Amino acid sequence: MAKIYDKAYMGERVVPIGEAHLSVASAAVLYGLSVYTVFPVCVKKKGTAAFRLRDHYQRLVNSAQIIGLDTFAPAWSFEKFQKAITELVAANTITEDVFVRATVHVDELVPGTRSRGLHTTLSMFLYEAKPILPQAGARLKTSVWRRIPDYAIPSRAKVNGAYVNSVLARQDAIDSGYDDCVFLDATGHVCELSAANIFLVREGVLITPDTMSDLLEGINRKTILELARSLKMSVVERSVDLTELYIADEIFACGTSAFVAPVVEVDARKIGSGVIGPLTQQIRDAHTALFRGETPMSQQLLTYL
Ligand code: PMP
Repeated sequence: MAKIYDKAYMGERVVPIGEAHLSVASAAVLYGLSVYTVFPVCVKKKGTAAFRLRDHYQRLVNSAQIIGLDTFAPAWSFEKFQKAITELVAANTITEDVFVRATVHVDELVPGTRSRGLHTTLSMFLYEAKPILPQAGARLKTSVWRRIPDYAIPSRAKVNGAYVNSVLARQDAIDSGYDDCVFLDATGHVCELSAANIFLVREGVLITPDTMSDLLEGINRKTILELARSLKMSVVERSVDLTELYIADEIFACGTSAFVAPVVEVDARKIGSGVIGPLTQQIRDAHTALFRGETPMSQQLLTYL
């Protein structure tokens, strides 16, 4: 179990984590009607800094907009959101990097199956920044469960209830002795993992499923595309066949909680040489340097709290 910090944010104030409750009768509990994001807050010499905070805020707003939760954005400007995180981080004593889980819950009681005009509340808490995938090499299994299509529950909205799809697929992978799943869409194209985006390398070209591939538009996916272009790598966003993974020179997963994790096996096929590949290593180093605040790009992407 990850370490969770003592103080949470709920109902527009910092409270002990044990008091950050939702009613069992709320739509958040009844239907999983909440949207969320997870972002890192890193401890640096200059202070604590959140990574790509504006992008995370915007994705939260977009998720709410897609689902039809229309009371969050008018109540929460970016500045107010940033102030709440600053208060929460100050209330907890953090000496190492943490993840912040920020969730917008529909806390109206028994509203029926609808979304518009309902009261929402923002909760936030901090927990230890432990990777969800083995960093030396992850083993993946194609899921028997397909990714929920955009015409059912859109993956680009980060909706709590939709994560049952990820739970089914990841549990299936774990039951078969793997670390995580590869999600395919209804037509058999590669989407992503249960909670991370995927990249592959073929003949020196970095390839990732495009944003019409029923995936979450990951903030680290975007960061890696930017980093790869700045490193002058050839990059393509397109539809990806499952069998392309089997013959890829390199594969890696990325995400806030996955970091940059090399993939060394898919469906009992060894990938590349079975260890982290050279392009993955280059991307991982650039990504780490960015987080550490060591590059000019870091200054634009870190918000000091
Ligand atoms: N896909 C899914 C389904 C996820 O849950 C996550 C984690 N938020 C990601 C991709 C990676 O997104 P990010 O880089 O924004 O953490």
